[in-house]
Amino acid sequence: MDDNCLFCKIIKGEIPSTKVYEDELVYAFNDINPAAPIHILVIPKKHIDCLANISDEDEKYIWAIHKAINKIATMQGFIEKGYRLIVNCGKDSGQEVMHLHYHILAGEKFGDKIV
Ligand code: 5GP
Ligand code: ZN
Repeated sequence: MDDNCLFCKIIKGEIPSTKVYEDELVYAFNDINPAAPIHILVIPKKHIDCLANISDEDEKYIWAIHKAINKIATMQGFIEKGYRLIVNCGKDSGQEVMHLHYHILAGEKFGDKIV
């Protein structure tokens, strides 16, 4: 964990968040500034700054994130209608928080609105 990282602080409970899902490897919570009716952030319980910097030892976190996404989609009832994932990585993407996070967007039909 990184003491100066916003999302590490959220995992530790030092900054409040609305928890959606949690297991040994993953924490998921509502985005504070939702871009869709459902906007959830899924993060590893390890400080990895960006997808570009994952290593072999991070494999279990990446798999756990993907499993968690489908658990959340099932729990919240949007698994059938679908969802969109966004992972920003690095400067050109506009990534603001340097702790790997998957945005789950759901609850509306996006069409070509984003990509
Ligand atoms: P990025 O642009 O880095 O991919 O996305 C960062 C996301 O984190 C943004 O969608 C932003 O709304 C969200 N965010 C930033 N600070 C907080 C916070 O303190 N709490 C929550 N729940 N979300 C946050
Ligand atoms: Zn962190």
